Order: sequence, then C-alpha cells, then structure tokens
Amino acid sequence: LIRFEEVVKKFGDNVVLNGLNLDINAGERVTLIGPSGSGKTTILRLLMTLERINGGRIWVGGEPFSHMDKGGKLVPASESYLRAKRKRIGMVFQQFNLFPNMSVRKNITEGPVHTLGVGKDEADQRAEELLEMVGLSDKIDAHPTQLSGGQQQRVAIARALAMRPEILLLDEVTSALDPELVAGVLDVLRDIARSTDITMLCVTHEMGFARDVSHRVFMFDEGRIAEEGPPEQLFGDPQEERTKTFLKAVL
Ligand code: ATP
Repeated sequence: LIRFEEVVKKFGDNVVLNGLNLDINAGERVTLIGPSGSGKTTILRLLMTLERINGGRIWVGGEPFSHMDKGGKLVPASESYLRAKRKRIGMVFQQFNLFPNMSVRKNITEGPVHTLGVGKDEADQRAEELLEMVGLSDKIDAHPTQLSGGQQQRVAIARALAMRPEILLLDEVTSALDPELVAGVLDVLRDIARSTDITMLCVTHEMGFARDVSHRVFMFDEGRIAEEGPPEQLFGDPQEERTKTFLKAVL
C-alpha cells in the first residue's frame, strides 16, 4: 500500500532521508523507532504531502507522488491527485491541534461534512459512535479547553477516524501528555488496532505499546532503516549494534 523507493529528503545541507526504501502492506501496523532527528516524523509528513522529496519516489497505491522529467527534475503529481491521496490518510499529532473554538462534536463532524459531503445526521451519529469508542460520550458538547490533554488526544483520534481513512499516522501522540494520561490514550489505540484493519504507522517512544500493536518495527538511524523485524525479534534479539545501544538507552 505504501512504498518509498530510494527516497532522499534534505533540509538545506541536512540530509534527513538518505535513499530510504520502505514497503508497508494494507492492514499492516508498523512502528518507527530510533533516535531523535533520525527522520521518523519527516516520513509521516511526506505521506501527508506536507513536504516534498528531493529524490526517489513515494506511492500510496496508484501513481507516485512525483516523477522525474527528462531533464532530471522532480515533478509533483497534480494537486487534485495529491488531495485525493491525502483524504485517505488520517494523522494525529503530538500537539492535539483540535479547533479550540468548536465543540467536540463539531471538531469531529467538520471534516466529514465539509470535505467528504457526509450528511449532518450521519456525521453526528458517527461522532457519537467514535466518542463511545474513545470513552468520551459525555464530552460531546464540551469545548477542548474543558478537557485534559489525554481527553483532547482521544478526541483528536476520533476526529481522524471520522474521515474513515485507510491509513492512520500517529506522531508521538503521547509525548506531550502528563504520565498519568498516557495509558488511557494507548488503550484506545490498542482497541483500534484490535478492532479495525486500518493500516497504522506510529512514531513512538512507548516500546511496550510498539511491542503490543505492531506487526513490524523499523529502527531508524541517520535517515535509513538500520534494522527491521517483528517486535519479538527486534526487541528480544536485536542484531545491529545501533539497535542494541538505542534500546538499552530507552528501555
Ligand atoms: P524526533 O523524535 O525528535 O521528532 P525524528 O526522527 O522524527 O525526531 P524529524 O523530525 O523527521 O526526526 O527530523 C529529522 C531532521 O530534519 C532533524 O535534524 C530536523 O532538525 C530536520 N528538520 C525537520 N523538519 C525541518 C524543517 N521544516 N526545516 C528544517 N529542518 C527540518
């Protein structure tokens, strides 16, 4: 479903992704781990087409996001094609980014109604179902400022799912939370992993969570995958020195 082929991404002289190859199947749940600055967030941002690559190709099914013209210049796919791809992908950020002046209900129904053209009643009903799933049915008419960080993040997850994405990207979604609120958010994500076949890509420092939900874990280092494998193998019997040092530091 997702493919990166020899992807290069630079910010000025800083080469963040250095010929990255990556394949993720539909329904797979993958966790990206690795030191800060190794390019994990950049991968999610590229999938959301929030950044452009400097070389290589990225696919989310269908056509690549950009191609090389005869002169060796990268030409992006049309804006309408990229927009259609973006609609299939939901993203939840470290900072919850809810619309502060809208109720929880409106936060969740806004996208489906305005972007997907879903009827208001249907969007409302879906919002109620999703809030039940994240354990916040009683907060439907609250405003984000009345919620704890953990509750806001659960609303952000419900909001992403309301768009019925095929792919869910999670970027360190518990890193900004007080420690006592982390477990509630991770439980919701475990539930989603168990009860749906959505393709998930998580950047996380929560190794227990990574172990529970992932089919595969990718260990990043300096813009490349240093090691990948099922969690039992990567956490239980890492092969690369880089992975061993990293795990020793975080576990
Ligand atoms: P972290 O765990 O700290 O988020 P990460 O592995 O997700 O790390 P990225 O956020 O992908 O790493 O960043 C990789 C590198 O790219 C870093 O050196 C960062 O400073 C740089 N970088 C990211 N975004 C930009 C930008 N918009 N402009 C310039 N440099 C950037």
